[in-house]
Amino acid sequence: MTKITPEITQTQQEKSLENLLATGQLVDLFSRSISYLRVSLTDQCNLRCIYCTPREIGEKLPCGELLSYEELLRVINLAVQLGIRKVRLTGGEPLVRRDIISFIRRLAAIPGLDDIRLTTNGVMLTRYAADLFAAGIRKLNISLDTLKKERFARITGVDLFDQVWQGIRLVQEMGFSPVKLNMVALRGINDDELLDFARLSRTHGLQVRFIEFMPIGDGTIWGEERYISSEEIRERISVLGELVAAQTARLDGPARIYRFKEDGEAGGSVGFISPISHKFCDQCNRLRLTSEGRLRSCLLSDKETDLKSILRAGGSDDEVKKALVQTILDKPKSHTLFEKEGSCHGQMSRIGG
Ligand code: SAM
Repeated sequence: MTKITPEITQTQQEKSLENLLATGQLVDLFSRSISYLRVSLTDQCNLRCIYCTPREIGEKLPCGELLSYEELLRVINLAVQLGIRKVRLTGGEPLVRRDIISFIRRLAAIPGLDDIRLTTNGVMLTRYAADLFAAGIRKLNISLDTLKKERFARITGVDLFDQVWQGIRLVQEMGFSPVKLNMVALRGINDDELLDFARLSRTHGLQVRFIEFMPIGDGTIWGEERYISSEEIRERISVLGELVAAQTARLDGPARIYRFKEDGEAGGSVGFISPISHKFCDQCNRLRLTSEGRLRSCLLSDKETDLKSILRAGGSDDEVKKALVQTILDKPKSHTLFEKEGSCHGQMSRIGG
C-alpha cells in the first residue's frame, strides 16, 4: 500500500475524498477546515517590483492560458458548493484584467459566497473604487512598500506613488472597511520607514501589516540579508508606544494584530505576518487557484493540480469537485521551504500573492 505520509495511507485518503464530497465541509487530513480560496486573475501587473517580478521578465501568458471568467465562475461555484466561503481576488494585479467589474458582479451572485475581497497595488483604485463598491466589495488589501515618492519609483519601476496614495485616501473616505495596508519589510531598502508605516495606524486609522520577505520565485532580489523578522520589526516600532494584542486578533487569519495601548481599541492597528519566523501552517485554511488554472494547496510548495486541463477536456462537475478535494487532501502539514525538498520557484504573480 502506498504511503502518502508516514501516518496516512492510500485507503484513508480515498475514504476522506468520498467523505468530503458527501459532507459539504472541507477538512484536510490534519483537521484544518479549508474555507478560503485565493484566485490569481492574471499574471500581469502594472508594477515591476524588484522583490516580486523576476528581473528577467518572463513571457506574458498568452490570453488563452488564463482561465476565462466563465471557467472561473464555474470553479468558484463548485468550490462554494463544497464549503468555500471566502474568495480573494489577486494576481498579478487583478484590476488590470479586462471587465473585472462585471466578473465581480457575477461572482457576488453565487449563493453561499459570503465574502469577496481584493488585493491590489492601488494604482487603479481612483478609477475603479466606485465600481468596486457598487459591485459589493468592501474589504481591500493594498500593497505599499514605501511612503517616499522617489523610492516608490525605484522599487516598482513607475512613478505612481501619488496616484496610489490618492486611491488609498479615496477608498477610506468611501467607507471600504477594513482597508489593510501591506508592507513587505526589506532590509536596506525600506526598513528606515517602519516607524512611518506604524504611525499610519494612528494618523490615518489604517490596518498596517508588516509582511516578512519570503524566498519566492527565481530571479528576484531575495537574499537572507534583506529579510527582517517580525520580532525585529515589532521591537523597532515599539519605540512609538506599548503594543497590546488587539481584541480582533483571532479574526484576522495569520496576522498577529496589535494596537498601541494609549490609542485603545479605536482607530487602526499594526499586524505582523510571519510565514518565516512563525509558521502559521497549522491554521492555514487556504487553497489557491493560479492564473494558469492550477490548484495549489500551499503558497510555498510547487506541487499543483492542473485544473485547466480537466475543465478543457470537458470534465464534469464531479470531476472538478474531486480535483478540488484531492488537492485539499494533498495539502502538506506545513511548508518545507528551508528543508531539503522544499522549494517555491513559481512566480508570485502567477500563484497569486
Ligand atoms: N498586485 C497585487 C498587489 O500588489 O497587492 C496583488 C499581487 S502581489 C503579488 C500580492 C502581495 O504579495 C503584495 O503585497 C506583495 O508585496 C507580496 N509579495 C510579493 N513577493 C513577495 C515576497 N517574496 N515576500 C513577501 N511578500 C511578497
